Amino acid sequence: MGKHRKEDRQPPMAGLPLRNKVVAAVVAGGAFAAVGQPLAANAGSEPQDRDVQPLADAKNLSTAVTGTQNSPAAVQLLQAQAPPQAEVQETAVREMAKARAIEAERIAQAEAARKAAQAEAEARRAAEEKARKAAGFHKPAEGRYTSGYGSRWGTSHRGIDIANKIGTPIYAVAPGEVVEAGPASGFGMWVRVEHDDGTVTVYGHVNTIVADEGQRVGAGEQIATMGNRGQSTGPHLHFEVHKNGSQKINPLPWLRERGIEVA
Ligand SMILES: [Zn+2]
Repeated sequence: MGKHRKEDRQPPMAGLPLRNKVVAAVVAGGAFAAVGQPLAANAGSEPQDRDVQPLADAKNLSTAVTGTQNSPAAVQLLQAQAPPQAEVQETAVREMAKARAIEAERIAQAEAARKAAQAEAEARRAAEEKARKAAGFHKPAEGRYTSGYGSRWGTSHRGIDIANKIGTPIYAVAPGEVVEAGPASGFGMWVRVEHDDGTVTVYGHVNTIVADEGQRVGAGEQIATMGNRGQSTGPHLHFEVHKNGSQKINPLPWLRERGIEVA
C-alpha cells in the first residue's frame, strides 16, 4: 500500500490536497482497524477514553496501515502525507460520539416510555373528570358561603348555606326529576330533585319556584329563586344532599368531588 502510494506521488502541487484527503481516510480507517477490537468489545457499554490513545503516534499509524515496519523513507513519506493528528483524533471523537449517541438514544427511549405511561395516566384522569362534567354538575347558587354542615347553635345543621339577595337564581346541581316543589315546614318553601343515582338534593327557603313536580331538569337548569322564607335569618339557600334519598351527608365534599367549589 505504502509502495503504491510512493510510485503515485507527485510534486506537492495542485491535486495534493485531494490525495491527502484520501490518504487521511485510509489511514484513519486502518488505524481504527488496529484499535477496533477494544472498541467493538466495549459496544453497549460506556466508551473509554483509552480507546483513542493508539492514534496519537504517527509512527504507529504507519504500522497500522502496512502491518510492517517501514523504511525510514516510507515513514517519512507517511508522516508527510499523514493527516494532522487533530484530524485523526477528530475521527475518533466522532466514533465515540456515535457510541454515546446510541447510549443516549437508549436512555431517551426509556425516558419516553416512562413519560408515555405518565401521560396515559393523566389522560385517564382527565377523561374521568370530563365524564363527570359531561354527566353534568352545577353550582346550586352564586353567593357567599355562610354556614357549613354540622353542629350549630346547639342543633345539627344538615346542609350548607349560600347567601345572596332575594331572587338570585337557584339551579339543579345535576340532572334529575323534581320530586317535590312547594311549602315545607322550617324551609318555608323547598324544591327536592331526585337524581339518576338515587341521590336527592334539597333547596330550602326559596322565594319562588320555577319548576313543576315531575319535571325532568338538567344540571344548571333553574328551579327556584333565593328567598328568606321559613326559619331563616336572611336571604339564603339552604342546600342538602341525601344519599340514597335519605342519608343526609355533608354537601361540600360531595360537590367538590363533582368539580363544584362553593366554600
Ligand atoms: Zn341552612
